Amino acid sequence: MTRLAERIYRTEGIVLRRMELGEADRILTLYTPQYGKLRAMAKGIRRPASKLRGHLELFTRAKLMLARGRNLDVITAAETTEAFRGLRAEDSSSLEPVGGAYRIAERLDRLTEDGVENRAVWDLLVAALGALSDGVPPRMVGLHFDLRLLGYLGYQPNLDSCAGCDRPLEPIENRYSFELGGVLCPDCRSHDPAADPLSVNALKLLRLMARQDARVVARLRLPEGLLDELEGLLNRSVRLTTDRDFAAPAVLRSLQGES
Ligand SMILES: [Zn+2]
Repeated sequence: MTRLAERIYRTEGIVLRRMELGEADRILTLYTPQYGKLRAMAKGIRRPASKLRGHLELFTRAKLMLARGRNLDVITAAETTEAFRGLRAEDSSSLEPVGGAYRIAERLDRLTEDGVENRAVWDLLVAALGALSDGVPPRMVGLHFDLRLLGYLGYQPNLDSCAGCDRPLEPIENRYSFELGGVLCPDCRSHDPAADPLSVNALKLLRLMARQDARVVARLRLPEGLLDELEGLLNRSVRLTTDRDFAAPAVLRSLQGES
């Protein structure tokens, strides 16, 4: 095997972010099935004659060939396998779905680390972009994505029994505790005085989202107020998760890297 062949590898990937570099290059943030989040260089992609051009648009799924580099790996070939057409329309019909795709990509970039394989997250990303492309309401896709992403990263709240006393949750107003990562029954409210009220319907919807895919949940006619409630809970969960697990370890990692 030549040295070049040893440096070459293949994967699929979806483009989450693009950053212009120099006159013709781009640095891409990709999500891949085998390597999780991956940053790679697309050299010369902004030149009209580039073979990569058109295959690495935002939110496209592509087959990639890469060469390991000293700092960043370099994309040597790319071929689109799924363009998610509903995110490409020239008229205003794609504005909302594209907004939904940006939101999902931002979440994924924020909550995941480079180089950690997570096949369930890859499948979730493919399903979410597919749903957006097919016109499933972006708000529903986004809420579903947040809950599932937290779950696949190890933060699935227990939605069946109380985080304080472990008794099955009753169909009454409970509390959602970010600190305890679960739901508290009325008797256990004192375990986390900062826990937010969780309505019976919001708990039902969380359970449904944990089991069904976004397309199924989107068929239900749900009041905006209920979606607002869920959005508030999930936004705070994401924020807390980011603060807790990324701020400190990132500092530690950079210190360890320097030593
Ligand atoms: Zn309890």
